[in-house]
Amino acid sequence: MSVWDDLPGQDKTIAALTRAVTEGNPSHAWLFTGPPGSGRTNAARAFAAALQCQVKDPGARGCGVCKACVTVLAGTHPDVALIATEKVNYQIEDVRELITKAQDRPSTAPWRVIIVEDADRMTERTTNVLLKSIEEPPPHTIWILCAPSPADVLVTIRSRCRSVSLSVPTRESVAKLLVRRDGLSEALAEFASRVSQSHIGIARRLARDEDARVRRDRIVRLPLRVQGVTAAVMAAGDLVELSTAEATAASTERAEAEATALRATLGIAQDAPVPSQQRSQFKALEENAKRRARRSTHDALDRSLIDLTTFFRDVLVLQLDSGTELVNDYLSEELRSYAAASRPEATIAKIDAIAEARTRIGANVAPLLAIEAMMVALRPIK
Ligand SMILES: [Zn+2]
Repeated sequence: MSVWDDLPGQDKTIAALTRAVTEGNPSHAWLFTGPPGSGRTNAARAFAAALQCQVKDPGARGCGVCKACVTVLAGTHPDVALIATEKVNYQIEDVRELITKAQDRPSTAPWRVIIVEDADRMTERTTNVLLKSIEEPPPHTIWILCAPSPADVLVTIRSRCRSVSLSVPTRESVAKLLVRRDGLSEALAEFASRVSQSHIGIARRLARDEDARVRRDRIVRLPLRVQGVTAAVMAAGDLVELSTAEATAASTERAEAEATALRATLGIAQDAPVPSQQRSQFKALEENAKRRARRSTHDALDRSLIDLTTFFRDVLVLQLDSGTELVNDYLSEELRSYAAASRPEATIAKIDAIAEARTRIGANVAPLLAIEAMMVALRPIK
C-alpha cells in the first residue's frame, strides 16, 4: 500500500515525485497539469502525503498508513491546505488569505503544503499577488498549483514552478482501479470508464450510482427525440434539470464522505454526537460543501454537454467508418440508424453547436437560453 495507489497510468510522474521526496530538498513551487479527471488533485494530495509521511527512511515515504499519510489523503492534516474556488475566478482576498497562511510555520509536520486547485481560475492581478510568495517562499512552505495545462497559467508563475504533467489514464487502468479500490464489478467498471472517457471521478460516480447512470443515459439519448422546435425546447429543460439533479447528488455524496472521514480522524463514532469543541471543524466542512455545491451545478451542466458530445462523436465515427471504438457502445444500434440518416458535415455542425453552448455558459449566458438555442441546432436536417 502507498499513497500513489490511486493514480492509474501515471508511473513516470510518480517516479519523479518519489525522487523529489527521497532527495529531501523539494522545490518550493510545483505546477501539476493534466486534463480534468486525470487525477491531478489526487496526485497533488499524494505528493503532499509523501512529503509529510512519518516513515524514517526517505525512500519509503508515502507509506499510506502512518497518521500523516492518512490525514493528508482524507483532507484533515493541519499543515496541508487544499484551496478551491466556487466562483468563476479566485478573489484577490482569497489569495491574500492563502499567502498569510503560507507564512505560518507548520504545526507538526516538516512542511506547510498549500494545494491550489484550478490555478487557471486566477486573473492576472490575483496571480501577481501570489507571485511574490512563490518567488520567495518561507523555507518551510511548498506550493502545489493545479491546472489543465501549463498554458492556462501565467508565464510568470509557470517559469517559477517545477512542472509535472499527468496523462489521460487508459480505460483499462481506470477500470482496474475501480475494481480494486472501490470493489466494483468488472462489467460496471469497464462500462463506466468507457463512457466517462477515463475520467476517474466521473467513472467512479457512474459505476457506484445507478441514478447517475440513468441520468447520463437520458442525456445521451436526447438527440434521438429532438425532432421539432417544441421537442428541442423540452429537451433543453430536461437537460438542465438532469444536470442540477446530478450536481446535488454528487455534492451530497462528497459532503457525506468528508464528514465520515473527519469523524474517523477525530475518533468520533459515526452515529455519536459531535463534542462541542469539535463542532467548528464540522461547521467549516459544511460551509465548504455549500460553496462547492453552487459551483458544481455549473460543472455538472458542462459535463452533461460533454456526454451529449459523445453521442455525435460516435455518430461521426460511424459515418466516417474510421473503426474507432464507440464511447456509447451500448447504444450502437440507435447510433447506427442515426448515422445512416445524416451526413458527417451535419454531425460536425452539431458538435460545434454544443461547443458553442459550453463557451456561452462559461461566459455567463443564462444556461437554459444557451441550451435551448443549442437543442434547436441539434434537430436533424431533413
Ligand atoms: Zn506515511
